[in-house]
Amino acid sequence: MSGDHPEVPVAARVRDLEERLIAAGLVTDEELEAILADVFASASPVNGARMVARAWTDPAYRDRLLADANAAAAELGFAAGTRGYLLKAVENTPDVHNVIVCTLCSCYPTSLLGPSPGWYKSFAYRSRVVREPRAVLAEFGLELPQDTEIRVWDANSETRYLVVPRPPDLPGRAAEDSLAELVTRNGLIGTAVR
Ligand code: FE
Repeated sequence: MSGDHPEVPVAARVRDLEERLIAAGLVTDEELEAILADVFASASPVNGARMVARAWTDPAYRDRLLADANAAAAELGFAAGTRGYLLKAVENTPDVHNVIVCTLCSCYPTSLLGPSPGWYKSFAYRSRVVREPRAVLAEFGLELPQDTEIRVWDANSETRYLVVPRPPDLPGRAAEDSLAELVTRNGLIGTAVR
C-alpha cells in the first residue's frame, strides 16, 4: 500500500463495496451513479438560495417553508425531503437572528447548502458558537445590534436547519433569480447577513 496516495485504497474499498451491493442485487451500477450524482453534483447552496428567494417573493411559499421545510424543498425539486431527516427553516427577523451548528459533529442539510465548510466542522466553531454566538458572528464580520436575540440551533442526524435570511431592501420588485444570487452559504448557516 502506498502512503503517498492514501485515497487510492479508499477508492478501491468503495469500489469493492459497490460491487458487493450490485452482486447482491441491492442496486444496479446505474442506480448507484444516480444516487451519488444526486448527492454530490447537485448539492449546492444555490438550492437553498432558491428556496429563500422564493420565500421572499411568495408569502404562501414562505408560510409552507416555515411549516414544513421538507415539503417546501421537495416542491422545488430538491431531495432534502427524502434524506430521512426533519428539515426546519428558521427565519431571521428584525429582532431575531438564527445560526446553525452541529455541536457533536457536522450535521447539515448538504443537498441545500453544498458541502459544509471546514470551519463548520471545527471544534472551535462547534464549541464557541453555543457559548458566545455574538462574538463568533462578529469574527465572521457580522456585527449584530445588542438587542438582537441570537438563536443557536443544534443540528443532529435527525433534525437539520436552514436559515432564512432577511430580504434586502430593494426598491420595487426584484426577480426571484436575482434575489437568489444575493444568498450565500454562510447566509444559509447564519454566519452572514444573507
Ligand atoms: Fe453532526
